[in-house]
Amino acid sequence: MSWVSNKEFTNVDEFVQWLDESFGDYISKHINDNHVHHTWRPNHDSNKKTSTLQLHKNMRNYHVNTNGWDDVAQHITIGYDGVVILGRDIRKIPVSAKNYNGTTNLHPFAYEMIGDFDKGNDKLEGKQLDAAIKISRYFYKKGKGIVFHRECLINGKQPKTCPGTGIEKSWFMSLVKDSKFDVIKVAVPIKEEVGSVIIETPSKPVASSSKPITQPTPTPTKTLGLVDWMKSKGMDSGYNNRAKLAKEYGIANYSGTASQNEKLLDLLQAGKKPVTSTTKKETTSNSNPKNLGLVDWMNANKMDSSYANREKLAKQYGISGYKGTADQNIKLLEKLTSGAKVSTKTTSSPTIKVGAKVTLKSSATKYATGESIPKSIKGKKYTIQQVGSGKVLLKEIYSWVKTSDLS
Ligand SMILES: [Zn+2]
Repeated sequence: MSWVSNKEFTNVDEFVQWLDESFGDYISKHINDNHVHHTWRPNHDSNKKTSTLQLHKNMRNYHVNTNGWDDVAQHITIGYDGVVILGRDIRKIPVSAKNYNGTTNLHPFAYEMIGDFDKGNDKLEGKQLDAAIKISRYFYKKGKGIVFHRECLINGKQPKTCPGTGIEKSWFMSLVKDSKFDVIKVAVPIKEEVGSVIIETPSKPVASSSKPITQPTPTPTKTLGLVDWMKSKGMDSGYNNRAKLAKEYGIANYSGTASQNEKLLDLLQAGKKPVTSTTKKETTSNSNPKNLGLVDWMNANKMDSSYANREKLAKQYGISGYKGTADQNIKLLEKLTSGAKVSTKTTSSPTIKVGAKVTLKSSATKYATGESIPKSIKGKKYTIQQVGSGKVLLKEIYSWVKTSDLS
C-alpha cells in the first residue's frame, strides 16, 4: 500500500492497524527509534480554530517553500483532536533531530504533536494523549526506542525542550508500557482521499493501485489546497508557475505562504482574469518554439532545472540575487535561449548535487539554520545528501549548510 501524503486518520486504532499492515515489515527492518516532538507553534489554541489537516498542510508548505526541504519534516502530525495526518514518507529520513536522523536504511520515525507542552501551557491529554501513546506503544512493542527530541544532545546539550518541559519522560513511558493502550482492531476498509499528494512507491506504481485519485473532482472544493486543486485541473502546480500566476493576479511578493495560496486559489476558482496582462515576451527564437517557461524549457532540453542549478546559472549570466522570481526566470530563459555567453568565468564552485563530495570552508561560521558551526567539522569533506535552495544537507553531519560555504 502506498504512503499518501496528507491522508487523514480520525481514529488512531485505524491508523496503527493500517501502518502495521502496510509498513510493519519495513518498520521492523529500517526504523530504529520513534522520535517524539511537539510543534510549540502551532499550539492548541491554533488547533481549536484550524483543523489538524490544514495546520499540517501549512507546516508542509512552510517546510517546502520556505525551508526548501523536499517535504514536511515529520512522518506524521497528531492533532489536539487525536487526528493523525500522514506527512513525509516513512521510508524517507525525517528532519527530526540534528545528528540523529539516521540513514535511508535505518532511521527514526518522527511524529509531531500539535501543542506547546512546556510547563504552564498546553496539556497533553484526552484523544491526543491516547493517539500519541498508542502510536509510541506500537513502536515500543516492535523493540524500537522511544526518544524525546530533547534527549538528542548536541555537544552534550539539549537542543530544545521538545516535546515540552511539561512532559516527564518517566510518566510518558509508564503509559507506553501499559497494555490498555494496545490498539483495538477495526474492520474498516481504508479509502484513499481524493486530492491527496501521492508519494510514489518504488515497488508499486500508484496509478494502478489508487484509481480514485485520478478521478477529477466534480466541483472545486474549498477543502483542497492550492497545489492539490491545480493538480486536479491538470495545471502546473510548481512554485514557479504559482509565483507567475500570483503576479498576474496582483498578489505581490509571492513566497508561497498559506494566506497567499488561499488568495490565489480563490482568484483561480472564481475564474477571474489576471489584473495585469502577462508581460511575457513573444519569443520567436527557434530555440524555444513552444514558448515554454524556464523550468519546462530546461527540462525539455534535459538540463538540471533544480533551484540550485538555476541559481548557479543566474549567477554565471550576471543575474544577481537570484530568488526564482518570474522576472528573473524570464531573464534567465532569454539568456539561455539566445545562447549568450556567461558573463563571468565559472569559478571553482563545487558541483551541487546529491552524492557529490564537497568541502565545508574553514571560513564558514553558521549553519543554514543559524547555529554556529563548531571548528572541528570545518575544512573537511562531506557528501551532499539533499539539495535545498541556497543550502545543502551534508550526510555525515546531517546538517544544512549554505552553498556559499562550500568549495
Ligand atoms: Zn522537536
